[in-house]
Amino acid sequence: MAAGVKVICTECDFTTEAWSDGNPYYLDEHGVKRYAYHPSSEADLCVAVDTPYICMKCAHEFNVDSAAPTRRCPECNFGQISSLWRLAGKTCPRCKSGEIVVSGSMIS
Ligand SMILES: [Zn+2]
Ligand SMILES: [Zn+2]
Repeated sequence: MAAGVKVICTECDFTTEAWSDGNPYYLDEHGVKRYAYHPSSEADLCVAVDTPYICMKCAHEFNVDSAAPTRRCPECNFGQISSLWRLAGKTCPRCKSGEIVVSGSMIS
């Protein structure tokens, strides 16, 4: 089971969802990345985790792979990124004026 939250901006229509433990994945026999969703017997095979991040400049959402972590936005190369999970209380990266609030929790 994983805890999830809805991430919302107080000003614009920016909204997204985040899970506390990211998206665990494993590689199949062809070396292709496969996500293991909850609940799943494949969870035992997982080798790394993709964590959803957002760029604080261009609001591009992307995954940071724990096997090959990055600290820069792949879109604009900006060096300030935040995991969606830790976005609460920060200035909205899309409208730059609202504040990000986290609403409730979801359980998978
Ligand atoms: Zn960016
Ligand atoms: Zn906003």
